[in-house]
Amino acid sequence: MAVSTLSPMKLLKTPEILLKYGNPGDQQNFAVIEVPFPMIVAWDRTTKIKRFTCHKLIATQLRQVYVDILSEYGLPEIERLGINIYGGCFNHRPKRGTENSYTNAIKAGDLNKAASFLSVHSWAIAIDMDPDRNKLNENHTTARFAKPAYKKMIDCFYRNGFVGLGPEKDYDWMHFQIGS
Ligand SMILES: [Zn+2]
Repeated sequence: MAVSTLSPMKLLKTPEILLKYGNPGDQQNFAVIEVPFPMIVAWDRTTKIKRFTCHKLIATQLRQVYVDILSEYGLPEIERLGINIYGGCFNHRPKRGTENSYTNAIKAGDLNKAASFLSVHSWAIAIDMDPDRNKLNENHTTARFAKPAYKKMIDCFYRNGFVGLGPEKDYDWMHFQIGS
């Protein structure tokens, strides 16, 4: 299992996210980053991108993740391992399974409670990679990113201030988010 021990960072809680990263979905907080190699869009494999939107406060670090990945692996290995498959960054939505709780909190006018049900993708402070082979409910026995070949990739995220749900919680291995 490709657990990274490089950093004592932890997953941010919703009040910390609101304080540091502002309101979910606030486009004024967003920036477009250019990555150093083309990425294949997971839900449309014929589309390649070299830029995408993320929160401006993580832009430099997130770009550096991909610069480091390129220097660690080189492009052919990145492509062979599917590290170039982009699963999405900004997505304003509740966490899977909390849709009703989110809607009820919105109806009740409790925006702080509603925010607690939102995916951190709503702030554009997380990125998913190769989602088809690192599904939400997979653990290290089947998730691709738990294999030793991906240890260096995970280290690139941690080195630049990100944490992964795979190494931390052993589910949702596709998902990396900015740490505390
Ligand atoms: Zn995610």
